[in-house]
Amino acid sequence: MRRKPLIRKGTIFAALFAIFIMMFWTSDWLAAVGFGLASLILIIAITMPTNRYARWIRVLRFLLILIAISIAWFSIVDHSRWYEYCENCDDHRFVDETRICGIPVISKNHPYHINTVSQIRTDLGMPCTHSFQRMHLVRVWGLAICARPCSSVTCCLSSGERFYDNAVSQRIRQYAADRPDEARKLYHRIVNLDDFDAMHRFISEIITSDSTPKRRP
Ligand SMILES: [Zn+2]
Ligand SMILES: [Zn+2]
Repeated sequence: MRRKPLIRKGTIFAALFAIFIMMFWTSDWLAAVGFGLASLILIIAITMPTNRYARWIRVLRFLLILIAISIAWFSIVDHSRWYEYCENCDDHRFVDETRICGIPVISKNHPYHINTVSQIRTDLGMPCTHSFQRMHLVRVWGLAICARPCSSVTCCLSSGERFYDNAVSQRIRQYAADRPDEARKLYHRIVNLDDFDAMHRFISEIITSDSTPKRRP
């Protein structure tokens, strides 16, 4: 009597089709097509009749399965690098992900690069509400081939205020607590009027003073 297979062929085909459809949403369309092609080759290999030329059919089946697994590996597995940035203040960071079918299984968030304007807004007590966007910089297909996309971004052309450290932050917070009206005016000049000269003058004054500035910026 013939044994029943543990998993029916129909179940395997349905699962492959479901993953193929899912990958259009979770991954790149080319990856989905690659997975679809790999599935097709696999289906041809396992449904091949073996009654004639049995030995050669087995060799051909083995080769087709090998090809299907290779295409599936490059379609399913990737390492991606993302550039996450705030549309409002330009704070940004890089995120590395190892993904399967476009779904991250290992993720590493690099530290944020904080913009001087964003930092001073926070210290003045009116931080950016942040609206983050993501840009796909790099995709390494099958952890081996960098393509679609394979780009980079130059960030932090200006390194910000070199001496804007925690002590300076603390003084600006103290300044905002002591002079809330002046802090609001300074915020308005920096954020609404883009008066970065006023910001740099204020920071220099904070750095060179022993305490909070006596004059208005
Ligand atoms: Zn922001
Ligand atoms: Zn940066």
